[in-house]
Amino acid sequence: MFSGKVAVVTGSTSGIGLGIARALARQGADIVLNGFGDATEIEHIRSSLETESGVRVAHDGADLSHGEEVREMISRAVATMGRIDMLVNNAGIQHTASIEEFPVDKWDALLALNLSAVFHATAAALPHMKQQGWGRIINIASAHGLVGSVNKSAYVAAKHGVVGFTKVTALETGGTGITANAICPGWVRTPLVEKQITALAERNGTDQESAARELLAEKQPSLQFVTPEQLGEMVVFLASDAAAQMTGTALPMDGGWTAR
Ligand code: NAD
Repeated sequence: MFSGKVAVVTGSTSGIGLGIARALARQGADIVLNGFGDATEIEHIRSSLETESGVRVAHDGADLSHGEEVREMISRAVATMGRIDMLVNNAGIQHTASIEEFPVDKWDALLALNLSAVFHATAAALPHMKQQGWGRIINIASAHGLVGSVNKSAYVAAKHGVVGFTKVTALETGGTGITANAICPGWVRTPLVEKQITALAERNGTDQESAARELLAEKQPSLQFVTPEQLGEMVVFLASDAAAQMTGTALPMDGGWTAR
């Protein structure tokens, strides 16, 4: 479906981003991976994706909490791969604390990556997409882009910001062949959430699986985790021609979280 097209997926050495990169590669898109991790592991991910899908796969280790590095990553992607057709802004971090106790450096780091990087990457990608007359910008927000939770002020503020930014991106690109949409996942069992499950298990003196069940029961009526594979297929749909008239949306995939 996407043969000859290039997708940049931020934060794709793990979790949701990797699921999205795999799904887009399966549909023939060349991929620029981004994210941190062990160099050997990243090379294994890169080369196996290339072999499995028969597409070109590069890895860019840019630290996206710095605006100039985000913009340089987009320029490098165009220089290396020849173009950019799809931008999936996925990289993100979490930190939990009450507002009074929220460390300022954690607030700044979270906003820089979860919100400002989306702005910088979009700003750098749009001129290329406009020139081509086609583009897909898909921002991985969160159920926390639609509703709040205690102790997640920075995350909720950033994700609501992403949903708002997505709307403005859609308005500014109307009629250009570019669409911009946000996906709002509920709980997905990735390293980001595993840490929260561990914290809950320690707090309650229970094991990891009981804590995982409790985490789901509190928020997600389906009582099951969303998977990176399901989110990957959602991104494939949003990038397809069938979704050409969908823009400016914030789409939950959250097991019913935001229906409450
Ligand atoms: P994860 O921790 O598994 O993956 C995060 C990725 O971002 C990794 O590849 C990591 O190396 C990369 N990364 C971290 N800091 C970076 C930086 N400064 N520069 C570049 N890359 C960086 O997390 P995940 O759960 O897969 O989360 C991916 C996105 O999905 C995040 O935006 C997160 O907020 C969002 N999300 C996650 C859940 C969930 O339940 N896991 C739910 C809703 C939304």
